Amino acid sequence: MSVDLVSVTIAAAVIGLCIGSFLNVVIHRVPRMLEQGWRAQCAELAGEPAPESPRYNLIVPGSQCPQCGHRIGALENIPVLSYLVLRGRCAACKHPISSRYPIVELVTAALTVAAIVRFGVSAEGLAACVYLWMLIALTFIDFDTQLLPDNLTLPLLWTGLLANLLGAVPSVTLRDAVIGAIAGYLVLWGVYWAFKLIRGKEGMGYGDFKLLAALGAWLGWKALVPIVALSSLVGAAIGICLVAFKGRDHQVPLAFGPYLAIAGAIALFFGKQLISLYLPG
Ligand SMILES: [Zn+2]
Repeated sequence: MSVDLVSVTIAAAVIGLCIGSFLNVVIHRVPRMLEQGWRAQCAELAGEPAPESPRYNLIVPGSQCPQCGHRIGALENIPVLSYLVLRGRCAACKHPISSRYPIVELVTAALTVAAIVRFGVSAEGLAACVYLWMLIALTFIDFDTQLLPDNLTLPLLWTGLLANLLGAVPSVTLRDAVIGAIAGYLVLWGVYWAFKLIRGKEGMGYGDFKLLAALGAWLGWKALVPIVALSSLVGAAIGICLVAFKGRDHQVPLAFGPYLAIAGAIALFFGKQLISLYLPG
């Protein structure tokens, strides 16, 4: 490895850790912010006074221990390092901190490095990072809450079209991207209604359509087939394992979003190879 590549890799890892730390906040707070907004809307529709709630957004209030309310200072908020130094416990009450936080930070750092090494310090590299960061947030939010918030899926769609307008996604044309966005939505919308008419129940949510539309907007319509195939494979494998080993009720719908998002990340790196499997030439 050249000195240049080493320093670029280190810089990408450090930036990735910091972004991962911010993604932890997004993953934790966006669903709660949505819920607060819904409660306020319900009250308004019912003609009741808006529920009293303290200001809560991505910045305010500062991070605190969910157990004892201890304010987490800057030194306790260094990605991964603080977790290791504190041995995974709150500095004040020693309550265990979820290992999810350093995991999200490490995954973000790893994918940021992979994107920069693969696509370079360039518009392509930056676009790939933005794409992956948003997918990480969506994966964990859907995993936790079975929600794919519009305020993440729709910006992912617009940024995908914008990135392709600027030519920042290798081997995807703007035409592929626009068709990808439309087809991504329509394919799952069709599956949803077929499922509903035949089985009389809902197999997935509208968030899934918007997520696949966003993936199509980034990677083009040709990538949709491998994305859907990959996500179904991963989803079916995990679903079967959950039913077989954990006795999970197979009537309970599993979140499909995380598998779509993971397949979308794989397709960013291996899309060309995956597409050539079914569209030779
Ligand atoms: Zn505490």
